[in-house]
Amino acid sequence: MIVDVHTHVFWPESDFGPRLQADLNRCGVDQAVWGDVTERHLETTLAADVAIVFGLQASATDWLIPNEAVAAHVAQAADRLLFFASIDPAKAGYMEELEVCHQQLGAVGVKLAPLYQNAHPADPRYYDIYRYCEKNGLPVLFHAGTSFVSGTPLDYSRPVHFDSVALDFPELRMVLAHLGHPWEGETISVIRRHANVYADLSALYYRPWQFYNAMRLLVEYRTESKVLFGSDFPFTTTADSITGVRNLNHIIAQSGLPPVPDDVIEDIIHRDALACLNLPHPKSIKR
Ligand SMILES: [Zn+2]
Repeated sequence: MIVDVHTHVFWPESDFGPRLQADLNRCGVDQAVWGDVTERHLETTLAADVAIVFGLQASATDWLIPNEAVAAHVAQAADRLLFFASIDPAKAGYMEELEVCHQQLGAVGVKLAPLYQNAHPADPRYYDIYRYCEKNGLPVLFHAGTSFVSGTPLDYSRPVHFDSVALDFPELRMVLAHLGHPWEGETISVIRRHANVYADLSALYYRPWQFYNAMRLLVEYRTESKVLFGSDFPFTTTADSITGVRNLNHIIAQSGLPPVPDDVIEDIIHRDALACLNLPHPKSIKR
């Protein structure tokens, strides 16, 4: 089984505010290549058996993707998609929104993004969310590491901050996205300490030297079993990510540098992320 734990859907015209549009332009992100995001999402995620889907609610950086719209999208392929709610602690009524997403819209997990939401991972408002998620068995996937967004402290996305969250919420299943790039070493040091903290390797294969080094570090620390497969659609696709991850040793060619073993790579691609995160298979959810 292949589970893509990291896919986005959004509607840029209505969901991206002016600040976000300016950040995308400044960093040269070409939105035209995304095409019709929702249609392509339904097509390209077929390369996995199951995909986790979220929007993003982050008023500090102008991401305004409604949870209701993401839930409606997931309902179009409810036998293979899982909805994670994105909760913005800066919004009034954020706990009510979490409850509605969980109890009415079918959310089985939560996506948080401290760097995008302008809140430290130890912020008391996040602690309200962690408490609810731990109690109700909802895993939390965090954006970790750098991003093109501006105006918020980069420090909020340092992987090391999730260490104290894991100490305070030992039963909470957590995923640190993108191996916390470019602080992969910090992410590895966190995930190897905590049984319920994982990382995903989404959006990394297209920086091949960094990705190779991160994967070697994983192998040397023997933490590869804590890494889940993800793509970061629409910034890439599920199939391109599978190929990119499989090709990660191409960069070392005949240099004599040590490869990442093939079985490590295949194990990550085929890891049962649903079991790791205690998630139901979409087919087993009663609606
Ligand atoms: Zn992402």
